[in-house]
Amino acid sequence: MARRILARLPGVPVTVIPDREALRPALADRAAWLAAAKTTLLLTVQKGPFRRPCPGTRDYLCCGYQVLQVTLNCPMDCSYCVLQEYINVPAITIFVNMEDLLAELEADWAAAPDKVWRLGTGEFGDSLALDELMGLNKRLMPFFAGRPQAVLEIKTKWHRLEPLLPLGPNPQVVFAWSLNPAEIIRREEHFSAPLEARLKAAAQAAAAGFRLAFHFDPLIYFPGWEEAYRSTVERLGSMVPSAAIAWISLGGLRFLPRLRHLIHRRFPASRFAAQEMVRAPDGKLRYFKDLRIDMYGRMREWLSQATPGALIYLCMESPRVWQAVFGGVPEEGELARLLDERVHPSGERAGLYFPTNSRI
Ligand code: SF4
Repeated sequence: MARRILARLPGVPVTVIPDREALRPALADRAAWLAAAKTTLLLTVQKGPFRRPCPGTRDYLCCGYQVLQVTLNCPMDCSYCVLQEYINVPAITIFVNMEDLLAELEADWAAAPDKVWRLGTGEFGDSLALDELMGLNKRLMPFFAGRPQAVLEIKTKWHRLEPLLPLGPNPQVVFAWSLNPAEIIRREEHFSAPLEARLKAAAQAAAAGFRLAFHFDPLIYFPGWEEAYRSTVERLGSMVPSAAIAWISLGGLRFLPRLRHLIHRRFPASRFAAQEMVRAPDGKLRYFKDLRIDMYGRMREWLSQATPGALIYLCMESPRVWQAVFGGVPEEGELARLLDERVHPSGERAGLYFPTNSRI
């Protein structure tokens, strides 16, 4: 992969460093180096496991998602990105030992053949933004094909997936887009694809025989949010076939308190981080519970009309919020099972593929 990436970047200066410690001296002022970090690629080897459970929190319901850490950081620059506080190398890191990743997946699947593995590459970066350089999805997608116990979620804010479309149909691949109203994308999700381009790409993926997912995360409160989110949901419903949607998640804006200062420094025109928030049991700042419930409830109502049958769930929310929004709380492990059933053949055979959200 390293050779492939270098071949696609002729003329870009290349420096071989002994290890990532060589980049450390640039770290003194985080706000200063974060923008520059978007212009440097660090090609390196993932020495630990690629797969790690999504970091759920004790007081919030977890969906049992598993993260494949194939990159760290991404070329886009969202003002709310939690990675700004997380990355410790001033670069976009790409882990190039793809063969180790495939071997690790084989070993995992062989060790637990009855488990449904929902795996995604979009937690520590963007699954598509670097793909023309990396070529990772072209390797991963056929690798997942014909493995009913494993599903790959390609989560992105990007839109260029034409080279991947001939690899469909493939029910083991879910193309997922993070969505927000067009004005939030313009103001806060710098260098990402516009809303219309994301939805057009989603329609292309569905036509090529892939499942889809959407993540309204973070949901951002601002004056006029109702109209902006309602029309975004309507646009989603008009451009994408509901029958292709595996799931839709909702997650209110949340971040560790120290990120607020960084957002103000890096994006002084941004207003959303100044909104009143409360410190939650996991230490993160969140909107007040009543506001979260209001936003989730309205979104659920609009989505039920625009994308009938799609499974809607809350990402990292408390049982009290679930109760208020859905009138019920999934039992331990039930949310993971509901999501598994959306993509596992046994769930489809049992007729569970679409109407499950009526239960919660
Ligand atoms: S696309 Fe995701 S990883 Fe990239 S800057 Fe935005 S939030 Fe961060």
